[in-house]
Amino acid sequence: MTPFLAQIVFLIGVFGWGAIRIPHEIKNKRKNRIEVSQADRQEKVLLFVSLTGLGILPIAYCLSASLRRVLAFADLPFSAAVASLGVLVFAGALALFLATHRQLGRNWSQTLELREGHTLVTHGVYRLVRHPMYTAFFLWGLAQLLLLQNWVVGPAGLIGFGTLYAFRVGREERMMHEAFGAAYEAYVAQTKRIIPFVH
Ligand code: SAH
Repeated sequence: MTPFLAQIVFLIGVFGWGAIRIPHEIKNKRKNRIEVSQADRQEKVLLFVSLTGLGILPIAYCLSASLRRVLAFADLPFSAAVASLGVLVFAGALALFLATHRQLGRNWSQTLELREGHTLVTHGVYRLVRHPMYTAFFLWGLAQLLLLQNWVVGPAGLIGFGTLYAFRVGREERMMHEAFGAAYEAYVAQTKRIIPFVH
């Protein structure tokens, strides 16, 4: 593993993520009405912060030699073993991401929304944690840290997504609680948020 290969792996991971998400994005736009929306300015800013940290900055870093030169001051000594671990973590993130999309089905939204006929999903990976898709994004951020060994670009994903998560998760749970009442309370009592049995 070399820094160049690690950058290629990161780009392949992003491509894989798009291949999983884009079909859901298209399907969900068709005949799938939104009944409750909390997609306010705060949500838009948070989505942008997360997109920058997990996507725009690291993709630009992998594609642009001049950006890599500008950020060379923050390069860390490259460890092939650490980068190889990053490959495994990214693969795990994508597998989990695929499972969450399959299991959420038409209930999925990019932002805080409830759809017509929304159901509470508690099966599959949703038995393990309440927010497995967010777990998958944290794993992506971790993979980015391990693959792109630069102290500006590496942690940007965890910081960007961490910000979205911190401000969103409580609101999302309140919205789900308002919609599903006692069923959601029982679900909360049985599960943790993003790490099984821990948090
Ligand atoms: N937080 C979840 C879902 C992310 S997508 C996860 O990490 O896996 C965000 C949308 O999913 C929210 O707007 C909400 O409408 C919906 N949602 C969240 N948890 C859900 C659940 N258990 N069942 C059905 N829909 C859910």
